[in-house]
Amino acid sequence: MQVRNPPDAPQPARCRATTTCPYCGVGCGVAVELEQDQDSVRIVSLSGDVAHPANHGRLCVKGSALAETLSADGRLTMPQVRDEAGVLREVSWETALDLIAARFADLSRTHGGESIAAYLSGQLLTEDYYVANKLFKGFIGTPHLDTNSRLCMASAVVAHKRAFGADAVPCSYEDLERAELVVLVGSNLAWNHPVLFQRLKQARIDNPLLRIVVIDPRVTDSCEIADLYLGLRPGSDARLFNGLLAYMADRGRLDRLYLKAHTQGFDAALKAARREDCSLAAIARDCDVDVERLETFYYWFATQLHVVTLFSQGVNQSTSGTDKGNAIINCHLAGGKLGLPGAGPFSITGQPNAMGGREVGGLANQLAAHMDYETPGARELVGEFWNAPNIPQGPGHKAVELFAAIERGEIQALWIMATNPAVSLPDSTRVRAALAACPLVIVSECMADSDTLAYADVVLPASSWSEKDGTVTNSERCISRQRGLLAPPGEARHDWWQLAEVGKRMGYQAAFGYSGPHAIFREHARLSGFRNVAPRHKAGSKPLAASSIRRLFNIAPLAELDREGYDALRPIQWPVRRGEKGELIGTLRLFEDATFNTPNGRARLVPVTPQLPHQALSDATPLRLNTGRIRDQWHTMTRTARSARLMNHRAEPFVELHPQDAAARGLQEGALAQLAGRDEQGGVRGDYRARVRISHGQRQGEVFIPMHWNDHFASHGRAGALLAGLVDPFSGQPESKHGAVDVMPLPCEWQATLLIAPGVWGGHEDLAGAMTELEGCYWARIPQATLVRYQLAGEGQPDWALWCERHLSVQAGLWAQDVAQGGISAAGFREGRLIWWLKVTAGAARSDRQPNIAWLGECFASDQLSALERRSLLAGRLSGQADVGTMVCACHQVGELTIRQAIQSGDRCVEALGARLACGTRCGSCLPELKRLVEEERSDERTDSLEMA
Ligand code: SF4
Repeated sequence: MQVRNPPDAPQPARCRATTTCPYCGVGCGVAVELEQDQDSVRIVSLSGDVAHPANHGRLCVKGSALAETLSADGRLTMPQVRDEAGVLREVSWETALDLIAARFADLSRTHGGESIAAYLSGQLLTEDYYVANKLFKGFIGTPHLDTNSRLCMASAVVAHKRAFGADAVPCSYEDLERAELVVLVGSNLAWNHPVLFQRLKQARIDNPLLRIVVIDPRVTDSCEIADLYLGLRPGSDARLFNGLLAYMADRGRLDRLYLKAHTQGFDAALKAARREDCSLAAIARDCDVDVERLETFYYWFATQLHVVTLFSQGVNQSTSGTDKGNAIINCHLAGGKLGLPGAGPFSITGQPNAMGGREVGGLANQLAAHMDYETPGARELVGEFWNAPNIPQGPGHKAVELFAAIERGEIQALWIMATNPAVSLPDSTRVRAALAACPLVIVSECMADSDTLAYADVVLPASSWSEKDGTVTNSERCISRQRGLLAPPGEARHDWWQLAEVGKRMGYQAAFGYSGPHAIFREHARLSGFRNVAPRHKAGSKPLAASSIRRLFNIAPLAELDREGYDALRPIQWPVRRGEKGELIGTLRLFEDATFNTPNGRARLVPVTPQLPHQALSDATPLRLNTGRIRDQWHTMTRTARSARLMNHRAEPFVELHPQDAAARGLQEGALAQLAGRDEQGGVRGDYRARVRISHGQRQGEVFIPMHWNDHFASHGRAGALLAGLVDPFSGQPESKHGAVDVMPLPCEWQATLLIAPGVWGGHEDLAGAMTELEGCYWARIPQATLVRYQLAGEGQPDWALWCERHLSVQAGLWAQDVAQGGISAAGFREGRLIWWLKVTAGAARSDRQPNIAWLGECFASDQLSALERRSLLAGRLSGQADVGTMVCACHQVGELTIRQAIQSGDRCVEALGARLACGTRCGSCLPELKRLVEEERSDERTDSLEMA
């Protein structure tokens, strides 16, 4: 690998560089140390960037494991085109790009530009997004360009526009530290934005007056720092915040001056709230929360000025997500609680560059640079700036609609970049059918194990994190450089380059002749300031020129950066202006002058009528399904699954149930369960198979499953297949938090753990071939450092000897069979090395005695096993070795059983556990789990002593 951008100093043997984490919307700065020898560069260490304002040196477990995900294995390295026999064949870039340009030109002529679409990702850099938006909307002339950010924060975008006249997040992370009350709504910050959670936790230590309220149907690890928890009924958020608005009005807690001077629509919003009974008892009943807790929350919010309400997917992923966002914003406007230090509604994005995508117009209802189709003059302004001939007349299809349009045959070509819609979209089985039917599917992707590749006619190998070079914008409007440090493997190329090459081949050389990402960024910055007149609402202010459109998003001073200035750019929050001495000045907080981007400068309160989820519960689907992220995985796992330690926190797909729901279905902890929904015709929707986790933090009648598993890591782990494609009417965001399912035991007559050396199965085909021969098979694949672990379960009585011989390349060298119990332990060797290891137990229950995978991993790495090791293999552990249990601390690989034993033997706090086991002492992501385990063990002790008394 060659150095792309020699950082800081020319050709050093060791040098340092800074970049940005590619995972969540916190957007942490990362410092890396690089080592260069004759012809390669590698990252030798990685830590948090102490100078980055988002994290001040912290990283969570995912960020700190980034270097473990960089291997070239499993990367796409050559363009491929599917031949007439349906086989993907490697081709040159020339061939692939010529083919795409020719097919696009042909479709434009025959069916019009609107027959072509793009589906992008919040993983793309702003420069990639910008070129895509320009090519599709400006030159191909199609509005059908949308992004997976639609699944994440589209409802918040519309709520912002309705309230503020612009998609503008008022707050900064610093506001969490300056607040007196922080309300987390629909956000498990501890797992999904861990560094922000750590900042909030520290703020609580530093300011004993800071109170934290968690509002979420589930008791999550974020409750570790909560002073008050409201476990509300799923979907009742708008009712809760409408009730708060009425409470503030009834108790004289409105900011009448602020409302009068700076807002409009308050009376209508309050009237809408009062359409339902606004007594505390009625609201508590409807939201299914304790009335005293409800009143405490209302009192705290109403009486405190410095309140931040941080909301995320729990609010957004709903058929009424936009209204829920506005119900929250209404309360802030009514109390004058924004535009101040420590105050404001704060939407946190899931992805690292969801906001960058919004800046360039990466959503189908946006045009570019915070302009939309509805704004008079916007189409003309953008068309003139780009010198673009084909600006569409109106908005395009939003993600779910887009795939429906493909299904109907209206879209003939789709270019997918950096996302895996075959897994991540709701109703994903239908999405797969649409992809299969689409005449031309182009997939730009880094990893070979993306399920969407199965539907690609053209595959374009893309650069990945540490290779990509450009900018991202995090949840607090902070633009940071993500730097290209390593060269992409093989023929992989940047996404912006792929798009620009197609543009040039379609005849638009001048528009797409970029010399690099800095040239794209400068153009993007210039567009943000192009005829962008600063808001003027004061009496006597001049009217805007007819061709001007005022936008809050303005980074025009950054258009003056030369290549060196761009390379050296430090994180800066938009809008950006020049100071008196010419220095660049960012904006910490918006609306401090209470001037908004609406025609009259006033913020709008929006009347909200609460609605419950649209996916209906029924006798066949009596359980409310909640989907979400887990601590150590990202999206559909194509990247995080490459780190063995990240795989061990939750190794298999799981379903969390309340104890009574589990008992009613005969489900035990660790058993296998099957989930299914129902489609509109009453047919079965989805088939999700997972381990049962019984949790008192789950409300009765509701279940939670993770969203991550794809077909390369589990046989039946696709959460999206269970969900209907129902969306919010304003934002188009799917209702992914409110499915309807039932859960039942998975019929199985045996369970097994299979460990195999890497490379025994060459690819997914070998795995699929082996699994098809096992009846009713469930499998989960868990890559480890020296082996690949599979958890299997199925029906019937497989002939294991024959199966091993057929699929595991060498015959068993050790074999033990318990004929009466139906159990088998076996291992295979090649030239003395352990090649595979298998343990089968009969019955539906998982064996109590799990193998010691860490020790077996050492056996797989060993050239020569000792006699003792070989003798112990069939037992799966050395005599006396303890089971460590589920991994809690991924950094130091400390398991739950080890931690519980330490607590029982006297380490009765998190600090003592850290001192003894080192758990929780590195990135801190597991601290909430450690605290929970301490509390559980100590409450068990109290129960035991009470019973003895
Ligand atoms: S919190 Fe973790 S995943 Fe998110 S940006 Fe920071 S290091 Fe990356």
